[in-house]
Amino acid sequence: MQAELGRRAARALMASAARTPRGVRAAARSAGSATAGATSAPGWRPAPSSLSSPVSHASNDSAAARCSGTASTSGRCSTTAAAAAPGRAAAAAAQAAGGSSTRTRTITRSSPGGSADGGGGGQDVRSAYIHLPFCKRKCFYCDFPVEAVGRDPAAPKVEARMAAYVDTLLREVAATRRLGSAPLESVFFGGGTPSLLPPALLGRILEALDDRFGIAAGAEVSLEADPGTFDLPRLRAYGRLGVSRLSVGVQAFQQELLTACGRGHDLAEAEAALEAVRAAGLRSWSLDLISGLPGLTPDMWAASLERAVAAGPDHVSVYDLQVEEGTPFERWQRAGRLRLPADEAAVEMYGTASRLLTAAGFEHYEVSNYAKPGHRCAHNQVYWRGLPYYAFGLGAASYLRGRRFSRPARMSAYSDWVAALADSEVGRAGAALPGGHLPEESQEELLLDTLMLALRTADGVDLARLRARHGAAAVGVVLRALRPHEQVGSAYAVDGAGRRISIAEAAVASSPILNPKAASAAAAAAAARGDEQGSAAQGAGEEELEARPGPAAGSAAALAAARERSQSGAQAPAEGSADGSAEAQAEGATGAVRVRLSDPDGFLLSNDVISDVFAAFDLPPSGLSDCEGDTEGEVSAGSGDKQPGGVERKPVAAA
Ligand code: SF4
Repeated sequence: MQAELGRRAARALMASAARTPRGVRAAARSAGSATAGATSAPGWRPAPSSLSSPVSHASNDSAAARCSGTASTSGRCSTTAAAAAPGRAAAAAAQAAGGSSTRTRTITRSSPGGSADGGGGGQDVRSAYIHLPFCKRKCFYCDFPVEAVGRDPAAPKVEARMAAYVDTLLREVAATRRLGSAPLESVFFGGGTPSLLPPALLGRILEALDDRFGIAAGAEVSLEADPGTFDLPRLRAYGRLGVSRLSVGVQAFQQELLTACGRGHDLAEAEAALEAVRAAGLRSWSLDLISGLPGLTPDMWAASLERAVAAGPDHVSVYDLQVEEGTPFERWQRAGRLRLPADEAAVEMYGTASRLLTAAGFEHYEVSNYAKPGHRCAHNQVYWRGLPYYAFGLGAASYLRGRRFSRPARMSAYSDWVAALADSEVGRAGAALPGGHLPEESQEELLLDTLMLALRTADGVDLARLRARHGAAAVGVVLRALRPHEQVGSAYAVDGAGRRISIAEAAVASSPILNPKAASAAAAAAAARGDEQGSAAQGAGEEELEARPGPAAGSAAALAAARERSQSGAQAPAEGSADGSAEAQAEGATGAVRVRLSDPDGFLLSNDVISDVFAAFDLPPSGLSDCEGDTEGEVSAGSGDKQPGGVERKPVAAA
């Protein structure tokens, strides 16, 4: 199978494998890919829009899932749209640091400085990722760019290091061009362990972002936090600065597991952290767990999930441990000293998580992520939907104007890079576009990214949008490739009302020729994207018809009935349960005809399904870009919720 895939597809597959359940990774390995090294292979790193690896990191699932929700919280972040007075955020930061003021930071809708040029490849850029690389110690599974600061992060020399890093980061922000005129709607502080950063420094960053890009009222501002690095006053200080969402990297509720993976916190600190998070009353918070840790048993896993649910989070991220090249875990594995759960046990644990969390009211909205209604991570959905975003900091990967760009992952190289950027003519004018010299992603890359990311979410692939972007032929190929998986229950379609339908019915319901409503949807999708490709979708229904199932998948009578329903505007009958709650529908892709993988079995097999879909396109290697390193930094080719450098942030080992 792998030989049939283009290089890009194969790499994407490997990248995705790195973040999926062990069973999936095993499937990828059998296809010839080396998942363990996928994210760190020389010359290539998975792009930020691809998926992340199975373990969650400190909490930074920017992909993670650590983030979620939107809107400001509980009174600590004002949602008013008042214009910001210069220096206001700085004042709030100072108050937060002092901890004595009750004044809140007002997130503004001001018109920030900097040039607005309609950017993001025709889209406003509404999201920013900020990498804060400091941790108490380095976990045994971690391959992120991290600086260990020891057990006393409040030591003057440690705070001086952090302050110097923030100075550098702010230079990068000031030099960067603003694309579009809309303010930021999501900001994600990932790491590293962002909760090590003193509130005053965090306030400086938010102030700089607000001045430069604007931060929308009610924006989701997420911060990854590890137990043992914060207390209630610190959380309240973050809240006054506008932090609305916390992602807490607990990872396990067994002391022996925390010890075995070298975490910087113990179980008592985890319990204290959860108590503080609950008392802080943030609008939304996520709890991160890692499955597949050495010594973890299914019973222990079930106990951790139950304890997590009892803690009352709004969101849970579950990452499967991925052994990364160059880590102590990798060395111990090679030496036969690392005893990980068997693949079968890992698959069982994945199913247990899906079952328990769904029963507790969480929507399984992405392979590794679960959310209560209204608490999906807005920032991670930007990655999964292929939308543009800024990124700042060590090793961080941005996606602007169709170009993915990763900053240097060594501190000295990053500092040099920022100095060169800021001192350049465009940097001094605040007009730099890091990575702007790189070629845009090709249509093939965009297509593969879109499919790989969308098929790992509960929203699935929006057929009207796929047609508008990539033409009707792409829709036909995808539907054909999914038909065998539909027959075994791993894939299905959803109509505009969120009801389950067959893929044959979806082909008809989404065809502009067979269904006039679909033509309107295609035109709307094209208009929303601001391009002309949507018109190309018109009149291309023949390819979709080719996706009609054969006798085994559906009858001609069923197809005719579906066509009649579509043309009359009537709803297709439900074939199964509705696709999630009403809230989930509202939060997801309501109104679109979509195809998706089932939960949890389809998600568990997502690598297999995605590889089949990629193979169906039969893209030649020459049609795919290599995305090798670049002189300014490093280009990341893949995607995912993993930051920095496009490395999957969470789904593997969390911080
Ligand atoms: S896994 Fe997270 S907490 Fe651990 S060293 Fe890496 S970034 Fe830090």
